[in-house]
Amino acid sequence: MNSPPPPLPPRHQTDHQTKQIILVHGPIIIGAGPSGLATSACLSNRGVPSLILERSDSIASLWKSKTYDRLKLHLPKHFCRLPLLDFPDNFPKYPSKNEFLDYLELYASHFRIVPRFNENVQNAAFDTSSGLWRVKTLNKTEYLSKWLIVATGENADAYVPEIPGIVKFSGGEIIHASEYRSGEEFRQQRVLVVGCGNSGMEISLDLVRHNASPHLVVRNTVHVLPREILGLSTFGVGMTLLKCLPLSLVDKFLLLMASLSLGNTDRLGIRRPKTGPLELKNITGKSPVLDVGAMSLIRSGKIKIMEGVKEITKNGAKFMDGQEKEFDSIIFATGYKSNVPTWLQGSDFFTKEGMPKTPFPNGWRGGKGLYTVGFTRRGLLGTASDAVKIAGEIADQWRDEIKGSIKNRCSSSFVLISKS
Ligand SMILES: Cc1cc2nc3c(=O)[nH]c(=O)nc-3n(C[C@H](O)[C@H](O)[C@H](O)COP(=O)(O)OP(=O)(O)OC[C@H]3O[C@@H](n4cnc5c(N)ncnc54)[C@H](O)[C@@H]3O)c2cc1C
Repeated sequence: MNSPPPPLPPRHQTDHQTKQIILVHGPIIIGAGPSGLATSACLSNRGVPSLILERSDSIASLWKSKTYDRLKLHLPKHFCRLPLLDFPDNFPKYPSKNEFLDYLELYASHFRIVPRFNENVQNAAFDTSSGLWRVKTLNKTEYLSKWLIVATGENADAYVPEIPGIVKFSGGEIIHASEYRSGEEFRQQRVLVVGCGNSGMEISLDLVRHNASPHLVVRNTVHVLPREILGLSTFGVGMTLLKCLPLSLVDKFLLLMASLSLGNTDRLGIRRPKTGPLELKNITGKSPVLDVGAMSLIRSGKIKIMEGVKEITKNGAKFMDGQEKEFDSIIFATGYKSNVPTWLQGSDFFTKEGMPKTPFPNGWRGGKGLYTVGFTRRGLLGTASDAVKIAGEIADQWRDEIKGSIKNRCSSSFVLISKS
C-alpha cells in the first residue's frame, strides 16, 4: 500500500513574498558543478530523480567563467573522472579546461540532467513539522523535499585577505585570480601576484609568457612537487606507494624526488613545511603545488619571489622585509571559500567556514536528509566518492518509503503546489 505524501509546511509559515511553492520529486541538489552533476547521475542510475538548482546560467560555472585560459586539470584524467562515465579516449592525459567542460556537457546530456538555472539559493532550512527541507531562491520560489544535497563547492566565493592600504592603490587593476583569463591584458606590466598555490604559480608563469614581470608573494611555507616523476604523475605515484608503504616514507620519497627535480626550493624563497606533503594534506587539506614550469622561471629570476605584503600603497606595495616596489596591477590568488553559512539555516553540521565538521570520508551525511558532496579537500576524487555513497543511501530510502506515494502522483520531476 502507498504511504501518504509528507505533510506540507503550514500556510502561515510560508513567506508572503514567495511566488510559488514546488514539491520536488526526489532530492534537491544545490549547485550544477561536477559534484551536483555526479550526484544527480548516480541517483538517476539508481532510479531516483532529482532537481538541481544552479545560480548561474550554465553547468560548471566555476570552470566556464572563473578560470584562466591556460588551465589544465592538475591531475591525470583518470583521477578526475566522474562516476559512471569515462573521459573520451582521445582526450589527453591532462585535459584542458575546455576539454573538461566538453566532458561535463557530455556527462549532463548522457544522464539527461537539466538543472534549473538562474536559481540562486538564499535560504534553506529543515521544517520539523513537515519533515521537509524548504529551499528559497532569489526568484521567490520555494522548493520542498525530504532531501537536500549541498553541492555548492569549496570554491563558491573568491577570498581576498584584508591587507592594509588596499583601497589606496590607484596604479591599475586589482583583481582576484577568478577574474584572470590570460596575461594578454598585462603585457609589459609589473604585476604583484599575491598567493603561491597552484593558481598563483600558474598565473605568474602565464604572465611571463606574455612579457609581463610578475612578483609572487610567498607568505607561508608551501610544498612544491614536480607534476610528474619519470613520466608518471606524482600524485599517482604517491597513491600507489601508499598501498604498501607508511605515509611518512612516501612523503620522504616524494620530497627526495622533488629535490632531485626542482632543487632546494628554500634557497629560492619557497620554504617547505616541516610536515610532509601528503601528511599535511591529510591534516589541513592544503594541497601541494604541482609545478608545470613556474619553478624554472623563478630560478632564472623571471618570476621574483617576495615575502609577505605589509601594506598596499598608492603605486605598489611595501613588504615585510622592508622593500617597497611599484606595480601596475595586483592579482589576488588567495583562494576561495564556501558560501554555505550564508544560506543554510539551523544546521550545526557545518563549521563557520562552511565545511562539514566531520572529516573525510564521513562528511557526506548530515542527518535529517541533509547531504554534502565535494567538500572533502580531495578534488574530483572526493566528489566521486561522496556522490556514490549519497546515491546509495537515498536510493534505499526512496525505495522503502517514498517511491510509491510520490511516483504515483507525479510524472515530472516536481509538482507546483501553489502560485500567487
Ligand atoms: C582553478 C582550479 C583548478 C582545479 N583543478 C582540479 C583538478 O585538476 N583536479 C581535481 O580533482 N580538482 C581540481 N580542482 C578542485 C575541484 O575539483 C573543482 O573546484 C571542482 O569544480 C569542484 O566541483 P564542485 O561541483 O564541488 O564545485 P563547483 O565547481 O564550484 O560548483 C558549485 C556550483 O554551485 C553553484 N552555487 C554556489 N552557490 C549557490 C547557491 N547559493 N545557489 C545555487 N547555486 C550555487 C555555483 O554557481 C557552481 O556552479 C580545481 C579547482 C580550481 C579552483
